[in-house]
Amino acid sequence: MRRKSVYLILLFALAACQPSADVPEAVAVTPTVPTVVAEVATMVPTANPIASRTATLPPTATYTPTSTDTPTLTPTPTLTPSVTFTPSLTFTATLSPTPRTIPSATPGAAVDENGTPIPTWTAPPPEPATEIDDHYHFSRPIGENGVNYIARTYPYGSGAGGLQTHLGVDLENPSGTPILAVGDGVVYYAGEDTSTQFGPSTSYYGNLVVIQHSVNASNGQPVFSLYGHMQRVDVQTGQAVKRGDKIGIVGGTGVAFGPHLHLEIRVGDPHSYQDTRNPELWIFPYRTFGTLVGRVTDANGTVLYDAPIQVKSADIARYTYTYADDLVNPDDTFGENFTLGDLPANYYEVSVTEGGRVRFRKTIYIYPDRSTWIDIQLK
Ligand SMILES: [Zn+2]
Repeated sequence: MRRKSVYLILLFALAACQPSADVPEAVAVTPTVPTVVAEVATMVPTANPIASRTATLPPTATYTPTSTDTPTLTPTPTLTPSVTFTPSLTFTATLSPTPRTIPSATPGAAVDENGTPIPTWTAPPPEPATEIDDHYHFSRPIGENGVNYIARTYPYGSGAGGLQTHLGVDLENPSGTPILAVGDGVVYYAGEDTSTQFGPSTSYYGNLVVIQHSVNASNGQPVFSLYGHMQRVDVQTGQAVKRGDKIGIVGGTGVAFGPHLHLEIRVGDPHSYQDTRNPELWIFPYRTFGTLVGRVTDANGTVLYDAPIQVKSADIARYTYTYADDLVNPDDTFGENFTLGDLPANYYEVSVTEGGRVRFRKTIYIYPDRSTWIDIQLK
């Protein structure tokens, strides 16, 4: 309705505007209806669709192995245990101490000159098969509170330090110390030796007592004990005495350096200065003590005189000398040329050194309550 109205208006306007001079008669006009064309939009594709753009990557670098590369390892075979260990014992510690046993000679220990290991234990070895024919018939000659150890500075048979060869042993005690009979017997002589000689000269022993004992020596001869330098004699010639009877007191009469008892053992003639024996082989050792007795010879078996002998244990060190070549008699049983008494039973290293050179060295055991023999032959 509305469009039809517009068209009508337009027609009337056009008619009004026509020049009047030639104005044709009004003609009927048929209105032209404009054709309407439908507009259809055409879609234009956009450029570079993303979907089509697939990037092509450049090839990566080629890997070249170098000489330092680790070679490829071949796996080792896997071991399979074939035995399974099952503990069969249960260890239970026992803490109670076991008794200490005496060790035997230790391998690698010090050896003596014969290659025998030097024992380091203190238990005694078994008694030796060789029999020792001791004749310890006598006891100590000094009474109570006196010194019954034999002086080691001047042993029997020694002539050390330029002294006269000693044919007895000394027991150093102050004047007045009781002197006892060493064994049973009869007083052979009692008094001064001013007119009766017993030594190298008269007036040598001063006041002395000589006892003849009731035992004889192994050679059958009579045995005497002699006590010299006494301050006082308490027995008379011919008097019977028992072991331990007091026969006098210590002094320094005769040829003596200070008070001491000089004790001798004589076998045979009681007056003979040349019939002495070593008292250490006649007086019983202290209990658990022993006496070392032996002989020192050279390579040819010749007896050596005045040779110094060292005797050492872990506890003590002592020395002695072989007998001098002068009036000294070896024992009729032993034939020794030295003794060293009053040694506590123990192991001892016995050595002989000459001019600073060790000529002999051996470790031996000194048995208690008896003698122990050693043969020393120098190389
Ligand atoms: Zn003497």
